[in-house]
Amino acid sequence: MAKKNLIGYSLAKLEQTMVRLKQPKYRGRQLYKWLYNTRMQDFSLMSDFSKSLREQLETKFEIKYPEIIESQKSTDGTEKFLFQFDDSTNVETVLIPDADRQAVCVSSQAGCALGCHFCATGTLGLMRNLTAGEILGQLIPLRDLYGNDCFTNIVFMGMGEPLKNYDNVVEAIKIITDSAGLMVSAKKITVSTSGISPKIRKLADSGLKVKLALSLHAATQEKRHKIMPVADSFGLDKLMDAVKYYTQVTGFRVTIEYILFAGFNDKPEDIKALVKLLHGVPCKINILAYNPVPGLDFERPTDEKVDWFARQLYPKMPAVTVRKSRGKDIDAACGQLAGRRVK
Ligand code: SF4
Repeated sequence: MAKKNLIGYSLAKLEQTMVRLKQPKYRGRQLYKWLYNTRMQDFSLMSDFSKSLREQLETKFEIKYPEIIESQKSTDGTEKFLFQFDDSTNVETVLIPDADRQAVCVSSQAGCALGCHFCATGTLGLMRNLTAGEILGQLIPLRDLYGNDCFTNIVFMGMGEPLKNYDNVVEAIKIITDSAGLMVSAKKITVSTSGISPKIRKLADSGLKVKLALSLHAATQEKRHKIMPVADSFGLDKLMDAVKYYTQVTGFRVTIEYILFAGFNDKPEDIKALVKLLHGVPCKINILAYNPVPGLDFERPTDEKVDWFARQLYPKMPAVTVRKSRGKDIDAACGQLAGRRVK
């Protein structure tokens, strides 16, 4: 029988596993610590287990991370990794070092079904959801490579829509934030969504207390519908109600991501619509110039245009940040590296 990979097992599941092996339940917590805290991959070195337990575990289970099959490093320090799982599915993970924080951008799905018209991942369609273990499997090997401090913040902004893989993302976050797990504070985790309103409410009620980012990119239903098919299923009115609900329940302001596309959403009327839409919403806005994807019909605005847009917005909004594009000299847009493999 094929060995089962323990990465992704919750504490409860490890405790059940130990009870099935006729061990006391607390052994589950010990194993949990070995897996996620110590990052031990060798059962024979789990020194607080008896020899016979180590042998039983070795016979039935394995501790396996996905393989890094390609990586690209930008001159600005951004590093992109292409992970491969057992079924040859690939996803991208990106380490983005900055002066005061090290963010890691993780994928939640292989491909994405939502097909935003500007997105390289969207062109791939959805291959499948990632398991909690496959989400964790993008993080643990990076710590092995670069040490525990290689990321301080985790953003679910890689390939896929995290709220379309809600259960596995939540399961992974529980292990990431656990003091015997990866020990990353929930406040340092951001789940970024294209706007799945009911799941935003569910995440608010989950008690996880992670940060939320909304990929807005257009401030009217009409315009949003032109670039994001998801807008047809979850209209802007209900979406903004869900976002407000998130801020009320968690006490956090939400991050509004607004990618500027040249000639599409960078005009005075867009600023007006954005200010109107976000009036009374506790938020900060991140403006980001589009990273062009070959074959897709959108262009990057000039730096002057980006500055102009932010300056117009700033006096009218509580917090406006222009995010620098990172990794311009590598396949920077999310999904480009994996997309080359698929194609
Ligand atoms: S932008 Fe996000 S939600 Fe839209 S297609 Fe790309 S990965 Fe999916």
